Amino acid sequence: MVFATCSIQQCALLRRHGSAGYASFPLETAHRRPLIRIPRSRRSARWGTNLTAWRSRMSIKVGNVEAKAGKLERGELRVGSMADGSPIELPVFIACGRKDGPIVWLEGCIHGEEYGGAASIIQFMRNLDLSTLSGTIIGIPVANPASFNFRSRVSSIDGQNLNRIFPGDLAGSHSVQLAAVIGEHLEKHADFLIDLHSGGIGAEVPFYVIYKDDGTQNATRSKDLAKRVGVETIWRVPEAQGMGGTVTAEALRHNIPSVTVECGGGTFTQKHLDDYLVSINGFLQATGNLSGNAPVRDGYTIISGGSFIHNREGGLFVPECKVGDILPKGRMIGRLINLHGETVEEIPNPYEDSYIAALRCNYFPTHAGEICAEAIPVEAREGL
Ligand SMILES: [Zn+2]
Repeated sequence: MVFATCSIQQCALLRRHGSAGYASFPLETAHRRPLIRIPRSRRSARWGTNLTAWRSRMSIKVGNVEAKAGKLERGELRVGSMADGSPIELPVFIACGRKDGPIVWLEGCIHGEEYGGAASIIQFMRNLDLSTLSGTIIGIPVANPASFNFRSRVSSIDGQNLNRIFPGDLAGSHSVQLAAVIGEHLEKHADFLIDLHSGGIGAEVPFYVIYKDDGTQNATRSKDLAKRVGVETIWRVPEAQGMGGTVTAEALRHNIPSVTVECGGGTFTQKHLDDYLVSINGFLQATGNLSGNAPVRDGYTIISGGSFIHNREGGLFVPECKVGDILPKGRMIGRLINLHGETVEEIPNPYEDSYIAALRCNYFPTHAGEICAEAIPVEAREGL
């Protein structure tokens, strides 16, 4: 979750990849938006005239995992080691189709306690029918092992929130180094990024999507993708280019359209898995990696602004609304009760009509100053 800290000029793509595999991307965006995704030098390196697309795909390597056409490969990307010498590794899947297409970076657990994304990526990658795949999917179920192993939002090694420190630095602390390694791989390999989040263990979020709006054409393309992941609500996060420190901002810095999918938390249910899979499949249909039409809605609710809501008193959090509700200003979001059952603080919605984008779990123990909810005002309602 964002809590607590957390298409495409078709002809240009066709030119680049020489494939008809993008036909499922909505035609209304074709011929309007120039693709500026890959500099000429990199394009020629990966899709150059002397290399066929086939050989280019064969060159995709992440850690000890190499793409092989028509195969699902798996292994690890080593990003450091613990004091006892045990390696710190990201699990890696690479699924490679026999047909040309873009390379999608699919990532979970950048916040380690948000394990629903990891579960969904594992399920998706292992059940993918490779005969239907165009291009390549690089699946990273756990992008942040040092926070995942301790079921924590932040790193157990340096206390950093990995999703606030991109682009990172190989001379920095562990999380800062990790951000740099992920950024390098994104720049080298990815044409698109889908980043999976949840409410973590102590909170819940509705099924919705976020895109970073840095004013670029790739931000517009990110929004187009956001409308094709099966959700009705889209959070537009305005940010200057490359700012914010998130992996999606880092992706945009490299001209890679990207979205963050939020879903569930507290526990992981079949419904959460189904929703994540709808979003992954829809995204990959929109990018042309999978056939079929991505799910679209008659209308979308765009939310923007707003923020975290911090309680001032500790206690057990009692929700007075549900995630995904749109509440008027002043309507009660929840309250804190002490251990005698007395209400010690009421939490009203401080904004005009706002979407409840996260909520502490029912009766979850909460300290003063923690984040008990997230309320984001409705900005607009619009069609496809
Ligand atoms: Zn998150």
